[in-house]
Amino acid sequence: MDNAVDYRELLDACMAAALRTKGRGRVADYIPALAREDAESFGMALATVEGEVHGVGDWERPFSIQSISKLLTLILALAEGGETELWERVGREPSGNPFNSLIQLETEHGIPRNPFINAGAIVVTDRLHSLTDGHAADMVVDFLRAESGNEALRTDAEVAASEAEHGHRNAALAHFIASHGNLVNEVDTVLAEYYAHCAITASCADLARTGLVLARHGLRADGTRLLTRSEAKRINAILLTCGTYDAAGDFAYRVGLPGKSGVGGGILAVLPGRAAVCAWGPALDPAGNSVAAAAALDTFTTLSGWSVF
Ligand code: GLU
Repeated sequence: MDNAVDYRELLDACMAAALRTKGRGRVADYIPALAREDAESFGMALATVEGEVHGVGDWERPFSIQSISKLLTLILALAEGGETELWERVGREPSGNPFNSLIQLETEHGIPRNPFINAGAIVVTDRLHSLTDGHAADMVVDFLRAESGNEALRTDAEVAASEAEHGHRNAALAHFIASHGNLVNEVDTVLAEYYAHCAITASCADLARTGLVLARHGLRADGTRLLTRSEAKRINAILLTCGTYDAAGDFAYRVGLPGKSGVGGGILAVLPGRAAVCAWGPALDPAGNSVAAAAALDTFTTLSGWSVF
């Protein structure tokens, strides 16, 4: 970052951009626990590889991380089990279809397009479930706790139960994948793990600190190596091309950073070698990305010059 840029001023400008989106987008309402969120909440945190953390707005308030957990399961499945089996079971191409689409699964014989659409995340969860003797979601919670230093971080049981109750489409995806022989474990077991990691609550500060693993090219907060440099580079590449639903092209165009969004309204973005930044605002655009968080990140890279391009 240009040394003349002051973090406080920068984050204030990001928040001002987020607040200007007021009235745009809709809070996810497919489950009651998400529908209760105030559309106008906003928070943002920046964590640097040097160990500084800065925030603005509700940057320490926990929210439902939802699909941001798909990034964490991918990191852990690669760290625990390596690349070979995983990439035989999940592709690495943008889908161009909504995150919960069934269409491509049929033509592609139960091999999901990428690990960040629901179908792909279900396969990654199945893999992590096998690799952890049945503790995939627990491992995600432990990982977030360790990287963020926030021991209070947990799965919200009400959200997980509600996801299961309204999860007909995810169940359909999982059964379809299983019918092609691409699930190792029982469908209901894998779905329970999937809902449990989507229902984790964490703040922008927690997620930005955790995202530093990718900014540090695979090193954890304690200095140990979780991913090879090459694995970290590859995950960042998939984040850029597939991390923000079927609007990843537009997000790359506007923000210029690898990032993962969730329908809870969070977007976690990575600046390899430098920082991780997480913004949150519950109102979503039609693709499922937070309107306020995308506007804030757009302003962040525009003003700071920190992007991968
Ligand atoms: N738990 C949500 C679902 O499976 C995640 C959606 C999302 O954040 O994309 O539908």
